[in-house]
Amino acid sequence: MNKCYSCGADIQVIKDKPYNYTECGLDVVLHGITQYACPSCGEEYASIPNMQKLHRLIGAYICQKRKALLKPAEIKFLRKDLHLKAKELAVLLGVTTSTISRWENGKKEIGEAHDRLLRSIYMMYASEQANHMVCGGVLNMFKELPTKRKKIAQSEKIDLNPQEWLNCLPDCCPA
Ligand SMILES: [Zn+2]
Repeated sequence: MNKCYSCGADIQVIKDKPYNYTECGLDVVLHGITQYACPSCGEEYASIPNMQKLHRLIGAYICQKRKALLKPAEIKFLRKDLHLKAKELAVLLGVTTSTISRWENGKKEIGEAHDRLLRSIYMMYASEQANHMVCGGVLNMFKELPTKRKKIAQSEKIDLNPQEWLNCLPDCCPA
């Protein structure tokens, strides 16, 4: 029997329940994740395998979304997965740190040019890390973007299960 790490009571194991991965800051739902719930203190947690690959898959998914410019939470997610501070990303994109903050808190829109630049930096980084392309190719990704995109689109839910991030990406990192 598993014990609650918080209070030491016997903990309940939950399988087959979708897990809202709110910790990533986006609307991501994981399927097939083992979750634990403590009936005594209410503590809940999930066991997520290979978070690095999961984050890479979410990042690639964000970069390949075509309908809208990157949203604040998406910009923040990509920056964090690039392991960059706002100040460091600002240098890469040729903008000020406060511009990055305003993109991330929704006070300013990223704009077409910077949206495309951030996506390509992320995808190049991901490819470099994986030593392999993680999408159908950077050129195809940009070819299919409409010239004028809507500002902020409705949030789109991302549904993932472990097979997708454990099997779809090459061995970029030890499991
Ligand atoms: Zn507990």
